[in-house]
Amino acid sequence: MKVNWRRGSGIGCAVALSLAFSFEASSLRAAEPPLFHDSHMHLTNFVQEGTDLRDFVKLMGTKVGRSTVFGLPLQQMWSYGNTGDFAPTYYLQTDAPLYYYSFVDASIAMAYRSLPPADQARLDPMIVGFNPSDMYAADHVKRVLKTFPGVFSGIGEFSIHKEFVSSKIAGETASLTNPALDRLFDVAAEIGLVVLLHNDIDMPFPKPNQEPYQIFQLSDLFLRHPKTTIIWAHIGLGRVVRPVPDQLGIVEKMLSNPALAHVYLDLSWDEVAKYIVASPEAIRRTAEVVNRHPDRFLFGTDEVAPSDPAKYMKVYEMYAPFWAALTPEARGMVLKGNYERLFDAARTRVRAWEKANVK
Ligand SMILES: [Zn+2]
Repeated sequence: MKVNWRRGSGIGCAVALSLAFSFEASSLRAAEPPLFHDSHMHLTNFVQEGTDLRDFVKLMGTKVGRSTVFGLPLQQMWSYGNTGDFAPTYYLQTDAPLYYYSFVDASIAMAYRSLPPADQARLDPMIVGFNPSDMYAADHVKRVLKTFPGVFSGIGEFSIHKEFVSSKIAGETASLTNPALDRLFDVAAEIGLVVLLHNDIDMPFPKPNQEPYQIFQLSDLFLRHPKTTIIWAHIGLGRVVRPVPDQLGIVEKMLSNPALAHVYLDLSWDEVAKYIVASPEAIRRTAEVVNRHPDRFLFGTDEVAPSDPAKYMKVYEMYAPFWAALTPEARGMVLKGNYERLFDAARTRVRAWEKANVK
């Protein structure tokens, strides 16, 4: 119904108003709840270009309720000596190094601040622009919070061991045993920031019986930081880093250890979905673990600079048979409940830290 406000009489206006209100109320009643919250979303790519944050909120539409927002901590260098006029936009397109790009945090913060409050309420920006092998990384995190209070909920996704990426980064190689990482995790615990960490469960193409040392170093790191809320991205899987023998057994053991109750797993990335939905058997076995520990898994798309709705919803749709294999309770927690619990708690704690520390 088209309402012409200017020409309407007083009574006409009242009728039109009540019609408009009842229309709005009924459309609100009919609104479907969102399908999921996105715990893993990169707004920008490896050359720090990407989706305008206002366009991303439009992309979320009514299907995605809330989302994390972060760039990529690394910039791919365009080395003329290596690729000439070819401008690489992805790390596999050149042999030139990657380097840490701190400006990404300021640019995400400024974009977030330009949004109306209703849109801001749907987003949880994360700090990524630090070098995790630098003892000063933790100081960068505090500086970002003090410069842009009221914005960030966590740190990450940042990587320690990541196939093809870690070995390309200029400077000192990151390590799970570096005290700089302990400083970061301590600061995250002190402030209440969620930590989203990428660490492959194994090296690419391991030799038979090669020791997957990352698993041991990773669990030691997690055990050293019981007060830090940690999301282990992709359960350690990657493009070519395949599940290790008895991966589900290792995950189940981890989830059953009370000393690791602060560790969560994300089921993001189409590269991970491909393993989980590879066969009815893989779906069933993974769903059994998630159904036994429904409060410990989150879903994320891991899209990079998503631009169209079909591409953005692709990973969620890939998982359709897996969602169907979960109990309704587990499905609700993985897709929305766990995100709300973790990120609501982070928001409250980080805002309190900022209030006490920003002069
Ligand atoms: Zn990611």
